[in-house]
Amino acid sequence: MKIFNTMTRTKQEFKPINEGKVGIYVCGPTVYDYIHIGNARPMIVFDTLRRYLEYKGLEVNYVSNFTDVDDKIIQKANAENVDSKVISERFIEECKKDMAALNVREATTHPKATEEIDDMIAMVAELIAKDYAYVVNGTVYFRTRKFRDYGKLSKKNIDDLRAGNRELLVSGEDEKEDPLDFVLWKPKKEGEPFWQSPWCEGRPGWHLECSVMSKKYIGDIIDIHAGGEDLIFPHHENEIAQSEAANGTEFARYWMHNGFLKINNEKMSKSLGNFFTVREIGEKYDLQVIRFFMLSAHYRSPLNFSADLVESSKNGLERIKTAYAKLQELCANGTDGDMSAQEASFVKQLDGYVEKFEAAMDDDLNTADAISVIFELVKFANTTTTEGATKSYAKAVADKLAMLADVLGIIVEQKEDLLDDEIDALIAERQAARKEKNFARADEIRNLLLDKGIVLEDTREGVRWKRA
Ligand code: AMP
Ligand code: ZN
Repeated sequence: MKIFNTMTRTKQEFKPINEGKVGIYVCGPTVYDYIHIGNARPMIVFDTLRRYLEYKGLEVNYVSNFTDVDDKIIQKANAENVDSKVISERFIEECKKDMAALNVREATTHPKATEEIDDMIAMVAELIAKDYAYVVNGTVYFRTRKFRDYGKLSKKNIDDLRAGNRELLVSGEDEKEDPLDFVLWKPKKEGEPFWQSPWCEGRPGWHLECSVMSKKYIGDIIDIHAGGEDLIFPHHENEIAQSEAANGTEFARYWMHNGFLKINNEKMSKSLGNFFTVREIGEKYDLQVIRFFMLSAHYRSPLNFSADLVESSKNGLERIKTAYAKLQELCANGTDGDMSAQEASFVKQLDGYVEKFEAAMDDDLNTADAISVIFELVKFANTTTTEGATKSYAKAVADKLAMLADVLGIIVEQKEDLLDDEIDALIAERQAARKEKNFARADEIRNLLLDKGIVLEDTREGVRWKRA
């Protein structure tokens, strides 16, 4: 498989450090709110990478963190007058629900920054000992200029950066030796969570978290480090500086970055009012459609989210599911006995689709082309399963279709529908749970219904529901 490596800006043949095994680290979300649909892109894309590598027989150690200590979390906790752990735990749970609905598998490990503080302190101490870091008034800074390779991922020249950063000198950061130096550990402010350290009661800098968690759960060298393209600078550049300075070895062999998701060709932002959470989108669409939509573009291209494009993904996915349902129907009710000679020759052609699919995925995870191959297979299935098709032929085609879709995390099985009575009973149970202030159960029922494509609407006359 070839992977476009941001470090070399070329497609390179992927060779794991240890044969048969891959360590992947994907920078995860900061958990202060529901994840937005932009955050869902790296989750879906790199989950698909993991699935494909596993399909090829590799054992994948997939690590993706939750940043659970951060200014935004603290702000929200203060606004709600609760501990910041209450906020981070709440949104980790919500994020996991969204991931499940997007069919993003749980990582091998989802480390939380607040549970790895001892190792963070150890790395900071190591960097100080090696003279890559220094302490001023309790704050520990990384001595950026000492790391000779600084800028190698983002291709930034350190002198240009310095010129662009001059204004920092007058923004209260003048205690630094150099404006390019960044924080490894900072003192607490009033009302903030903190940990004891040799330098002050405080908390880690964001960049440090990933260097430490990837080292602990994967090792000094990671096979693939991934995230959104906004993270290339400064986040990943700083991770490299910290890790390579501390560990004395290369940090990551391959760097993969997804392009940004835009909405109606504009940048997604709260102020523009075009900012959607996965949860909101899940009320309008089956999140399987969103997964399919995200994979219909190459992961490095910018992707525009619009109702029209999602609608066309919905139709595309429906076409695949309908073909699969037809094959399933034939598996149950088709002709018994051996395949015809013609069917046997069709079966041989199935491998051609698998090869084409793999060729697309081997070319830097080209899921867009891989989906085109699935459509070709659907067409082939539709034209070759005419009246009288055997059960065994239908099964051979259905299995191939399901196998390829599964590599992309696309579920082709139709969901069995809930009966109206069952829906009414669940709604009544939800109302009762709400009355008893058992909101967890009420949410659970709402999500369960959502999962079955039932959207609830609370109106003055009571709860209404519709099939999405
Ligand atoms: P954050 O919580 O902002 O650190 O983001 C978590 C992940 O989502 C990172 O890998 C980001 O690069 C990625 N991300 C954030 N916004 C977008 C977007 N609009 N499109 C694609 N990826 C995004
Ligand atoms: Zn990171």
